[in-house]
Amino acid sequence: PFEVLVIGGGPAGSAAAIYASRKGISTGIAAERFGGQVADTMGIENLISVPYTEGPKLVAAMEQHVNEYDVDIMNMQRAEKLIPAARTGSLHEVRLANGASLKARTLVLSTGARWRQLGVPGEDEYRNKGVAYCPHCDGPLFKGKRVAVIGGGNSGVEAAIDLAGIVGHVTLIEFGAEMRADDVLQRKLRSLKNVEIITSGQTTEITGENGKVNGLSYTDRNTGDNHHVALEGVFVQIGLVPNTEWLKGDIELSQHGEIVVNDRNETSIPGVFAAGDATTVPYKQIVISMGEGSKAALSAFDFLIRNSAQ
Ligand code: FAD
Repeated sequence: PFEVLVIGGGPAGSAAAIYASRKGISTGIAAERFGGQVADTMGIENLISVPYTEGPKLVAAMEQHVNEYDVDIMNMQRAEKLIPAARTGSLHEVRLANGASLKARTLVLSTGARWRQLGVPGEDEYRNKGVAYCPHCDGPLFKGKRVAVIGGGNSGVEAAIDLAGIVGHVTLIEFGAEMRADDVLQRKLRSLKNVEIITSGQTTEITGENGKVNGLSYTDRNTGDNHHVALEGVFVQIGLVPNTEWLKGDIELSQHGEIVVNDRNETSIPGVFAAGDATTVPYKQIVISMGEGSKAALSAFDFLIRNSAQ
C-alpha cells in the first residue's frame, strides 16, 4: 500500500505527489490523463515567475518534475470507487476502471473539473481560436475587441463585468427570460456602458473565418428570429463541472458536486484530503491548484505522523 495515493495528475495532483515524496514516504499517482486541463490549454500567462508557457510544455515540465522523485505514476487509470478506511489510520481503497484496486493510508483527491460546453457547431473548431472558457486566463487576449459571454449566472455575469474593463464590447447572452446572477452583480453589469444584455437567447452556432471566430448566431426564443453578432471572442460560462461523480455518496460534496474541504484540505473522511478544481476552493486556477495540492500533501503527512503505523 501507498502512504499517500494521489488521484488525478493535473497541477494539484502533481504538486501533491512532489510534496509527499519529498517527505520520504511512498507515493503514487493514478490519473486518467496526466496533465489534466493544462493539456488542453494554449497560452498560459499567469503562472507566477513564468511569463509565458503553453499547456503541453507545462505538462511535460510537471511530469519531469514528478519524475525527479520516487513517485509511482499510473497514467491512463480511472478511479471508479472510493472505499474509505474502516477506522481512522487503516487503509483506504480505490477501485480502478480496469478492475484493479489500490490501497493507501492517505488519499489526495485531485480529479479536477471540466467546463460545460454549449455543444453548438463551431465551438470545438474554434476552441482556443476565439472560443474561451476562462476569463482570468484569456481575457487579456481580447483587449479592445468584441466578445460575447454565454450564460447569465454568477460566473457569466462576473466574467462579463471583468471583461468589460478589458475588451471593447461585451454581449451577454442568457438562455432564460432572466439572468440568474445575484442582484448586486446584475446591477453592476447594467451600469456598464459597453455591455449589451440579451435574454431568451439560444446560441446556435459560433462562426468564423481563416481559423478564427468572427461571430455567433442566436435565436430569440420569444420570436423565433435568428440573429448574427459580429465579434472576435466567445466566453462560454455555463458551468464548471467537478469530476466527482465517482465519489457521490462516499464523501461530502457541495450542491455543485465539489468535494468539501477546509483550509487544511481535509474532507469529510479522516485521512482523505482533496485539492484543486474538484474541491470547494474558490477560484479555479493552475497556481491555486498547485498551492492546494501542496497543502493537501502536507496535511496528509501530518495525518500520517499522528496516526503512525500500528
Ligand atoms: P485538472 O487539471 O482538471 O486535472 C485533473 C486530473 O484528474 C487529470 O489528470 C484527470 O485525467 C484526472 N482525473 C479526472 N477524473 C479521474 C478519475 N475518475 N480517476 C483518475 N483520474 C481522474 N488556469 C490558469 O491558471 N491559467 C490559464 O491560462 C488557464 N487556462 C485554461 C484554459 C483552458 C482551456 C482550461 C480548460 C482551463 C484553464 N485554466 C487555466 C484552469 C486550469 O487548467 C485548472 O484550474 C487546473 O488545471 C486545475 O488543476 P487540477 O489539478 O485541480 O485539475
